[in-house]
Amino acid sequence: MDQGIIFVPLLICGMLGIMMAVATGFSYLWLRHVEGEAKRCPQCQSKGAGEVLDYELIEERSYIESDVTRWLPRRHRRRALPVQVEEKKYEVNYRCRQCGHEWRGIAMEEERSPSK
Ligand SMILES: [Zn+2]
Repeated sequence: MDQGIIFVPLLICGMLGIMMAVATGFSYLWLRHVEGEAKRCPQCQSKGAGEVLDYELIEERSYIESDVTRWLPRRHRRRALPVQVEEKKYEVNYRCRQCGHEWRGIAMEEERSPSK
């Protein structure tokens, strides 16, 4: 008889878990895309050939993003929770593995976690 009552919080937890996984997956894919672009050699256009020589942290910020709904599929949008975003901006020195050309670029690192 009590099984229904136990099942409800489990269901809610499960759905929250799926939402977080979806949100994390999206930001991960986005980061991969940015990284791929940043590592494209401006000299020979070889994609992903940039090797990181060194890097320097130039900007760091932390904020709460309340509108995470754009990252989620339509049916999950109403249940979206605010997330804590840690953002770091680096200036990076790259060298091309193909032609040896060196250049400087900006790389972003973003970490998302549920806000407290
Ligand atoms: Zn190159």
